[in-house]
Amino acid sequence: MGNTNATLAGGCFCGAVEYQVTGAPTYSGNCHCRDCQRAIGAGVVTWFGAKPEQFDVSKGEITYCETSPGIKRGFCGRCGTSLTFHGEGWDEIGITASSLNDPSAVTPASNVYLDHRQPWQPYDESLRNYAKFP
Ligand SMILES: [Zn+2]
Ligand SMILES: [Zn+2]
Repeated sequence: MGNTNATLAGGCFCGAVEYQVTGAPTYSGNCHCRDCQRAIGAGVVTWFGAKPEQFDVSKGEITYCETSPGIKRGFCGRCGTSLTFHGEGWDEIGITASSLNDPSAVTPASNVYLDHRQPWQPYDESLRNYAKFP
């Protein structure tokens, strides 16, 4: 997953929101759940994790929507780019890998919620794969 002291930078499509992540991501995985499909408009979403203290919004602000009880999804209020995911009581936040300036900086190691996978969405069977959430 790269240099553990590196700072990862990313932001939304229109440039109104930028963020930085200091240190190594806590995980990276592909989520096939129906909620992510709906919220993001894609068959699968690659997330990576960071502790709240690793994550810093360096420009603009993230708009939050409580998409399920206790679940907040963060996005740019101007262009709609999905940026973050946070569950109540979770000690880390999820960040969309594709919003990184260099999305290849993280390497997803798992697929979760394969029960919700769409038949047209292929996946890497060599990863750690879970029918639901591990
Ligand atoms: Zn934007
Ligand atoms: Zn999901």
